[in-house]
Amino acid sequence: MSSLSALKDDEECNSDWSEVRRSGIHGRGLFATKDIAKETYIIEYVGDKITKAESDRRGWAQFDLAKETGDAAVYIFTLNKRHDIDGNVPENAARLINHSCSPNCEAYIIKGKIWIAAIRDIKKDEELYFNYGFDLENYVDHPCLCESPKCVGYICGEDYWSTLRRKLAAKKAWEKRRVKSTA
Ligand SMILES: [Zn+2]
Repeated sequence: MSSLSALKDDEECNSDWSEVRRSGIHGRGLFATKDIAKETYIIEYVGDKITKAESDRRGWAQFDLAKETGDAAVYIFTLNKRHDIDGNVPENAARLINHSCSPNCEAYIIKGKIWIAAIRDIKKDEELYFNYGFDLENYVDHPCLCESPKCVGYICGEDYWSTLRRKLAAKKAWEKRRVKSTA
């Protein structure tokens, strides 16, 4: 999350820019219904405002559920030191925005609210993406299907890309050695 000073005030925010459609990447996604200029607030990421303790509880519950169902989806956003937002509520259309390694949107915290804003001009009918910014814990559970030329193969924040590449290279080298030794 970063700050984008050029963004306009809350009053001028418009959530009328996007709609849910089928996505080539992953089930459903959010698509631009008109051309969107860079630095436009597109949609608020709404959800339950919860304490960090509740956030941990829900995170672990989701982790247990994922072991049974394979659904490792996490919708919890860091809001500030004390609170998170759990966006796993039906009214939060922004939870359907898919991750991409070369996204056209980013999440910003503005006056205690989370907004998804355009980081470049977006054409009508383009799918909206942001980088989920996951760390590398359990990264193998979150393969990335974004098909962008920059794709690093797993869903994680750009800050982790170099570490991820090192991990993947080490894994590959190890697997090569293993194949050789059993041949
Ligand atoms: Zn990707």
